Amino acid sequence: MFEEYSGYRLAGRLAIWFSLWGLVGLLLDQVTLLLLIGTWVLLGYHYRHLARLAHWLWKDRRLTPPHGTGSWEPIFNGIYRLQGKNRRRRSQLARLLSRFREGAEALPDAAVVMGHEGQIAWCNKLAELHLGIHWPQDAGQRIDNLIRYPAFSSYLHSNQYDDPIEMTSSASESRLLEIRIMAYGDNQKLLLARDVTRLRQLEEMRRDFVANVSHELKTPLTVLQGYLEMMAMSPAMDEKQVSAMTDQTQRMKSLVDQLLTLSKIEVSTQVDPEHRIDMTEVLNQVHDEALALSAGKHQLVLDIDPGLHMYGDELQIRSACANLVQNAVHYSPAGTEVRISWRRLGDVGRFEVQDCGEGIALEHIPRLTERFYRVDRARSRQTGGSGLGLAIVKHALSHHNSQLDIHSTPGKGSRFGFSIPANLIVVQQTEKA
Ligand code: ADP
Repeated sequence: MFEEYSGYRLAGRLAIWFSLWGLVGLLLDQVTLLLLIGTWVLLGYHYRHLARLAHWLWKDRRLTPPHGTGSWEPIFNGIYRLQGKNRRRRSQLARLLSRFREGAEALPDAAVVMGHEGQIAWCNKLAELHLGIHWPQDAGQRIDNLIRYPAFSSYLHSNQYDDPIEMTSSASESRLLEIRIMAYGDNQKLLLARDVTRLRQLEEMRRDFVANVSHELKTPLTVLQGYLEMMAMSPAMDEKQVSAMTDQTQRMKSLVDQLLTLSKIEVSTQVDPEHRIDMTEVLNQVHDEALALSAGKHQLVLDIDPGLHMYGDELQIRSACANLVQNAVHYSPAGTEVRISWRRLGDVGRFEVQDCGEGIALEHIPRLTERFYRVDRARSRQTGGSGLGLAIVKHALSHHNSQLDIHSTPGKGSRFGFSIPANLIVVQQTEKA
């Protein structure tokens, strides 16, 4: 067993040492001289051990400290113990690090650990494959010197990492990557790149499929509709059956039309920011269509700023507004008011449709913009609803950097609205009458 450090033992030894020298001094009647000799001997002993320690620290190649005696034994033993502890901690840390690396290598994404300016501190194998980084040769290099895409550089330096960006892989043109950066710790950044080539291909295939099927269904439906109209005029046909068939074909036609509109809006990711939409004209048309739909059962109020217009895609904005207004008419009882407003709110353009209808329970609101999601299927079927209207609104608005907000109280009514950002707004001075 090691001799451990003890202050009492050290003090005891010192007392015994000087008592012995003092005793001999008393016997020889030379107390001061012998105490002095004792002090010199003790000093010599300590200097010898100090020299051994210094030699071991600076010159000796051995890993273990020299063996000490007396009061130096616990010191050398302490150093030896500390070394053992450090060795154990180091190997624990190395094990942890290699486990972390193995974990990061097992990630399905490319991962790069970077400093504040994007200096590469570490990357996994997939980062070498997808981003063309050579590890460890590129350690310390700035990542924007290796990935030379302007969009990537501005994303890296924007410090706004809420949304990921997509770009083609610098290692292979046919590979599409979704890049996400996360800031953490003391000015550190973690970059994750995911291969989304297959996902985007599948999305494209799905969009094409829906668009093609809807397109193919349109022609036979039109033919059927034509024949039904002819049959309705024939006295030999049962009027009820023909009318039921006409209703169903009409429903199918409007479903196909909605599907086609949705796929058209989905594929056009870029809207022309130069195209000016006359909102007064669009909203007057939407209002007229709503009047026809309501057939006098509702009070439709149009409250618009005639000088407020916007840039964007007219078909998409018209679809969004029309769907919201038609829903308000469909889901409100006769005799209630539907208010459509388009006004400036600060520096944005604000569109709102307020109804006093049945309202929507809170749990349905987050899911309303999903395709085919309907709160009450039977009720929606009665109104001829397809469940695609709000999905169209969501896509159309996202192309104009906007999103739908819904506030509703069951039994009291709902308010559907969106804000068009200041850069897409046109304010025109109107002459006062
Ligand atoms: P639909 O064609 O069925 O109306 P939408 O996507 O336009 O499909 O709307 C989804 C669902 O949201 C509707 O089925 C309806 O239940 C609900 N909804 C939409 N607008 C309103 C509204 N103004 N008041 C009450 N419920 C509404």
